Amino acid sequence: MNIKEKKKYIFPADEKPVVGIAGKEGPFKNVINALKPIDLSFAKNKSVLLKPNLGRIAKPEHGYNTHPLALAALIEIFTKAGASKIAIGESPLVGNSTSEAFEKGGIKEIADKYGIELIDMDVRPPVKKRIPDARVVHETKVCQAVYEYDILVSVPVAKTHMHTGVTLGIKNMKGCLYRHEKVRYHQLEYQNKNYPEKTLDSAISDLAVILLPDLTVIDGYVGMEGLGPSGGDAIKSDFASASRHPMGADVLGCILMGIDPSSVVHLRLVSERNNFSLDPLSYSVFPGDYKKFIVPYKPPPTDISVQFKNIVVYENEACSACLSTLFLFLRRFKDEMSPYLLDDGKFHIAIGKGVKDTKKGTVFVGNCTRNHIDKCLFIKGCPPVPTRIYEAITGKEPDENEPEVE
Ligand code: SF4
Repeated sequence: MNIKEKKKYIFPADEKPVVGIAGKEGPFKNVINALKPIDLSFAKNKSVLLKPNLGRIAKPEHGYNTHPLALAALIEIFTKAGASKIAIGESPLVGNSTSEAFEKGGIKEIADKYGIELIDMDVRPPVKKRIPDARVVHETKVCQAVYEYDILVSVPVAKTHMHTGVTLGIKNMKGCLYRHEKVRYHQLEYQNKNYPEKTLDSAISDLAVILLPDLTVIDGYVGMEGLGPSGGDAIKSDFASASRHPMGADVLGCILMGIDPSSVVHLRLVSERNNFSLDPLSYSVFPGDYKKFIVPYKPPPTDISVQFKNIVVYENEACSACLSTLFLFLRRFKDEMSPYLLDDGKFHIAIGKGVKDTKKGTVFVGNCTRNHIDKCLFIKGCPPVPTRIYEAITGKEPDENEPEVE
């Protein structure tokens, strides 16, 4: 198979990159309007891969996933621009079924309507890529589909993120990693002695050396604030931010979320390594009065336990898949944990390979915590499954009629 080499995207140095912003008109029109100032003639006779963020098997209104109507707008726009072929591809969170995520997220319906191919990017073998001048990831496995299309479009939903501050267009490229390769980025040593930043931030900036989107369109119709990317609250912010510059849409996306882009470590690293600017004034932003679309997002909390009364969560170096499982478990079953409280009147649960100093009687969840196996209840899985955690703790089967995710 002929795998095309994806060139690193370079914006002309003498040009002030254009960022289009829109809001208050719903997911479809926001995307159409945000793309108005952006020249899409480069798409003529080119194949286009739309890469949404399908973090979970969930309906669009929950803020986990890119809204299907944002994708519908992009399909219409690229069709008008003369694209030869358009597809939607995703390699979702480990443990989730791609086809179910497409179905539940309303994306299959859109694909059927427009006759667009949906690609489960985890099916075919990956392409191994060396990363020159890497900080922490020297070689990585990228899904093959990424290299089979001329144009890669990152279409994230706007979310805050427990580990990386935000997850927008650049972070969404991590979803192009093949299967467990995504998890591997979380399993690296938390801190590399050569760099002051968290290793995950360095790893994302390494990936950006070989993989950046040709166009980013951030869907902020219903985003996620607080405990993102999977345990936060939906926020109807109703904006979109778009740019051909790989950093432009993210910088303005942060501004629209009320977040200083220079405080987001992976964005700072990517900007330093690629000479991209984090200053919104470095971009030509349309419309000039875009600040009217700002909807401040609650930042991720530093302590997860405060979200759940009488629950103590130990979390250190857990990846999004485990965090997501934990939140789903607690949301559904926390009220049934009262027989399992420790002598402080609280239920203690731990995830992530960095956890230590836990109270005796803590429940350890996920393969990363297996070094605690002899201490107490250990529940395996990578990622673990909420219902299996419930079964292991209670010895009972949960009510299967109750859906895990609506
Ligand atoms: S056990 Fe959990 S934290 Fe560890 S790699 Fe698997 S999903 Fe991530």
